[in-house]
Amino acid sequence: MTFDLVLKNGEIVFPGVGVKRGSIGITGGKIAAILDPSEAAEGARVIDCTDRWIMPGAIDPHTHVGFGAKEEDWTTESRTAALGGVTGLMTFWRSDDLAASTPGWQADGEARSVIDFGFHFGVTARRHAEDFPALAKRFGVTSLKVYLMYKGATGRAKGFDEVDDALLFAALKAGAQVKGGVVGVHCENTEVIPVFRDPVKAASRMDLGAWDDQSPGFLETENVFRVAFFGEKAGCPVNIVHMSAGESLDLVERMRGPDRPAINVETCIHYLCLTRESPLGDIGKVNPPLRSQADADRLWEGVRTGSVSTIGSDHVARKLATKGPDIWSASAGFPGIAQILPALVSEGFHKRGIAIETLAAATSANVAKLYNLPNKGQIAPGFDADLAVIDPDGKTAVTHADYPSHSDYSPYEGMTFRGSVTHTVLRGRVIAEAGALAPDLGTAGGHYMFRAN
Ligand SMILES: [Zn+2]
Repeated sequence: MTFDLVLKNGEIVFPGVGVKRGSIGITGGKIAAILDPSEAAEGARVIDCTDRWIMPGAIDPHTHVGFGAKEEDWTTESRTAALGGVTGLMTFWRSDDLAASTPGWQADGEARSVIDFGFHFGVTARRHAEDFPALAKRFGVTSLKVYLMYKGATGRAKGFDEVDDALLFAALKAGAQVKGGVVGVHCENTEVIPVFRDPVKAASRMDLGAWDDQSPGFLETENVFRVAFFGEKAGCPVNIVHMSAGESLDLVERMRGPDRPAINVETCIHYLCLTRESPLGDIGKVNPPLRSQADADRLWEGVRTGSVSTIGSDHVARKLATKGPDIWSASAGFPGIAQILPALVSEGFHKRGIAIETLAAATSANVAKLYNLPNKGQIAPGFDADLAVIDPDGKTAVTHADYPSHSDYSPYEGMTFRGSVTHTVLRGRVIAEAGALAPDLGTAGGHYMFRAN
């Protein structure tokens, strides 16, 4: 058989299933055949994948494109992602008037992104929830995000004055009306934060741990209860995005049940690989905060069992200059999209013995399933040929200068992960190889992922 591209004799990682040696034949951007090692496979190009994993390309479920340099982020951050074996991203689109603004943002992405992309709509006003069923149909968006940390004064400082529990419930009701609808929530009880923040500030604390102490993990857990409980009453699946606290996962596991809507859990690589003790200073400021090693250990256990079903980066590409002058005034969030796969291979597979097919599910198949991404996240005939080839023992020494990101630092700077991405394939095209973008990459090529509902 002859194909456009053959990934030959690799260890094919089937998400959630296992690993099997073989070759993948790709034609017309789709996976055309999965062949035994003994079967002949010819192609216009053949890549020898001996001793390499062939995984589905990662789909980052949690990014903030546009927070760095507006539409330029589509260029810089999608290229950064491609170098990390990421073939798709989901980003939060927040706007007063979603109906009017979404086509332009989608067009910006189509004109600049080199990987596929989709949107979650941010709900900051009641009408966003009310309009969601119509917006979902029109734009193919089945996921919402509510920011409970923008309640009250915190939200008003950002120009949002409608964020409250009524908005949460309205969003859940709207989500329940959409086929495949899911409401993601940033869980952090912002009303209680001052009780902790005032004394920590009064003590002139400037360390990274102070950021955790001013918003301890159980303030996330408290919101998780509310979201899961209201989700059940509204009949809407929920997603606890960027879960940071071990106690939050304990609670979710107690609340889950066969007769109620799903309580999905997403975490991010920084809650697994970094802690409040990491030597990051102000760079490590993020919401929710980095927690303790015990929290990270609990989340890893959730990854191992599948209780944590998706893993992203919460990638925000701002400049290092915004990460100071102290922990209180530094911007929150940092970049990380290119580190997802190396970090999980190194810390999850090598260090903790978590099966690679489990990690692959959390970075691809589960994301595609949760967000109804068409033809994504599986290695099977007919699916888009979005693939990452990984050298399990290759070294990834992280330095921000290796990536074209708008941001000029990395919280993983200086860390060396065991595991490296050797090829990234998007719909049958090699878009990155051996740490470099493909010479014929061009300036666009990413498709908008419209999700039927
Ligand atoms: Zn958030």
